[in-house]
Amino acid sequence: MATKGVKEQTLVLIKPDAMQRGLVGEIVTRFEKKGLKLVGMKMMGLDEALLREHYAHIADKPFFPGLAKFMQGTPVIAMCWEGLEVVDAVRKITGITKARQAEAGSIRGDFAMSVSCNVVHASDSVENAEKEVKRFFKTDEIHNYDKSEYTHVYAADELV
Ligand code: UDP
Ligand code: MG
Repeated sequence: MATKGVKEQTLVLIKPDAMQRGLVGEIVTRFEKKGLKLVGMKMMGLDEALLREHYAHIADKPFFPGLAKFMQGTPVIAMCWEGLEVVDAVRKITGITKARQAEAGSIRGDFAMSVSCNVVHASDSVENAEKEVKRFFKTDEIHNYDKSEYTHVYAADELV
């Protein structure tokens, strides 16, 4: 899977709090308006094994059981977004973990108040993004297509 240049990819999850609060459209719109390309999208329930793998870096924390329960409260929407330095761009659009201190204008800054119920997940590095996209999507669930607006989103020398 090519993940360099404008083909860099990242994983975003729309979490159960956003599903319950009817924020799916708002969240997708933020990424679309930025000029990112949606190359994968599906609704799925997360089992304990997947959550342990996805949250391996915090699986031994006291808040993990509560987080796992929260993440299983509804299905989530998994999305793969593509673009130039997209991992970094999406983290900025997402905002910091503690949503009530996240910058206004970011998704968490505009739509959430909690540390746990913070509306979205976004991959935190190019290396982790590659692993996370593979964890949530089969190869044939990631789509390759031309986006006509790209010639307006990027300069010619960025489209490599
Ligand atoms: N989380 C939590 N309590 C904490 C820290 C994290 O419930 O004290 C949850 C929260 O939903 C967060 C997720 O665990 O988004 C993953 O934590 P991470 O540090 O990777 O933050 P993120 O990358 O999502 O900003
Ligand atoms: Mg993280």
